[in-house]
Parts: sequence; structure tokens; C-alpha cells
Amino acid sequence: APEEILLSVNNIEVVYDDVILVLRGVSLDVPKGKIVTLLGPNGAGKSTTLKAISGLLGTEDGEVTRGTITFMGEEIANRAPEEIVRRGIFQVMEGRRIIEDMTVIENLRLGAFTRKDGGAAIRDDIEKVFHYFPRLKERTGLAGYLSGGEQQMLAIGRAMMARPKMILLDEPSMGLSPLLVKEVFAIIETLCADTGITMLLVEQNARMALKIAQFGYIMESGKIVLDGPKDDLVNNEDVKEFYLGGD
Ligand code: ATP
Repeated sequence: APEEILLSVNNIEVVYDDVILVLRGVSLDVPKGKIVTLLGPNGAGKSTTLKAISGLLGTEDGEVTRGTITFMGEEIANRAPEEIVRRGIFQVMEGRRIIEDMTVIENLRLGAFTRKDGGAAIRDDIEKVFHYFPRLKERTGLAGYLSGGEQQMLAIGRAMMARPKMILLDEPSMGLSPLLVKEVFAIIETLCADTGITMLLVEQNARMALKIAQFGYIMESGKIVLDGPKDDLVNNEDVKEFYLGGD
């Protein structure tokens, strides 16, 4: 059976403050139930691509000025972020952005803000988050006291609380030790396999991202320069040299 494309970005251009052209014709497809990774150096436009999808660009005076973004067959470019969350896309921002003076559970409940089902379903889902991130269950104090890795776990758990169809994950490895990066990525992989959540994963750590993704795109200076199934990318000479540390 042909793959169902959940999200399709077609030839988008993005400007900030009416002038700076940051994305210059970006296209990518994310099949349902898959992990797709978007790789590339600092400043390439990866975060901007995620914000264009999640509607958060508008909060920074950015705008999609050309092209289309289709989610489940409907156009979503330049829609309000709340509407896009309601449609089933949840972005985990770079730098985690948890609420430090609230507890773990209060942070998790925030993720459920668009849901209309009641307390029991939300309590069940909090237990589900603790199943994947057992460390979080032991942390009963304020979220500000969590380690960087635990805060990243909480940010992903909060996204799960929205029961999204798709999570946009911006650099989960940022600021984490190699050991923790391994742990967090292993959990992401299991979580996606178990729940069927579709994931678009932005990373500078290409090696780790290509371990768990099925497909990847490489972006440089606001354009996609290479894309392919994981194995093609891992075996590509340029990718090996420039993104995987030359081996
Ligand atoms: P990083 O990993 O450093 O976040 P990135 O690939 O995610 O890199 P973006 O954050 O999307 O890159 O930035 C792409 C370009 O857009 C950069 O040149 C950046 O300076 C510019 N840019 C990002 N946000 C804004 C903004 N709010 N206003 C103006 N320019 C911006």
C-alpha cells in the first residue's frame, strides 16, 4: 500500500520582518507513523521550518510568503498556533521551555489544554508519560530543579499530553551529555513505534537522528540540498564527511 503522507510542505518561502528571506523554496513530506529528520548546520533554517508548520512564525514577525503546507489534506500555512495544535500538531521548542516554577504534573496538565475530555483520561495519560519517562515520576518538586535531560523528557511528555497526531521536535539533544542523548533518543524511538505518533525531528546530531529516523532531509542556507531514506544518507560520502564526522 502507498504511504499516507500526513504532512506535506511544498516550496515554501519564509520572510522575517517583511524582508529577510530565510527559507527559499523548501519542500518535504512526512509519512504517517514515521520519524523524519531535518538536519543541517546552525542557521540553515531548520527551526524556521518547524515554526512555519506550527504557526509560531507569526509570533516572531515571520510569514510564509509562498508555497503550501498541507496537513491531512488541508492547508495550514499562516494559521494561528492554537488552531494547528487543535488539528493535531504539537511543537516541542528548542531549549525545552518548561514552566520552572510549576511541578512536573502541572507542566504535563498544560500540554492537555486543548483537550475536552475529562480528568480521568488526563490522569491516565500522565501515567502513560511516566511509563515512558519513569524518572519524571520520582521528581515531585518544581520543574526548575530537574536536570537538563529530565526537562527535555518533560517537554516531550507535555507534548504527548495533547494526544497529537504529530510532534515537531527541535533539537532534543541540545545541552545533554552523550549518555543522556542516547537515553532520550531510545525513548523517542520506542514511543513512536508504540503509539504511531508521527515525528519531524530537527537535529544537529545527525548520527543520533539517523539512528531512529526512517527518512532524512538535509538543509543548508534555507534550501533542502539532499534527502533520502536513512540508509542512503548514512552511506552517502558527503553526509559521512560533513555530518557524521568522516567515518
Ligand atoms: P539553529 O540550529 O541555530 O537554530 P536553524 O537551522 O534552526 O539553526 P533558524 O533558527 O531557522 O536556523 O534560522 C535561520 C535564519 O533565520 C538565521 O539566519 C537566523 O538568523 C534567522 N532568524 C531566525 N529567527 C529570526 C527572527 N525571529 N527574526 C529574524 N531573523 C531570524
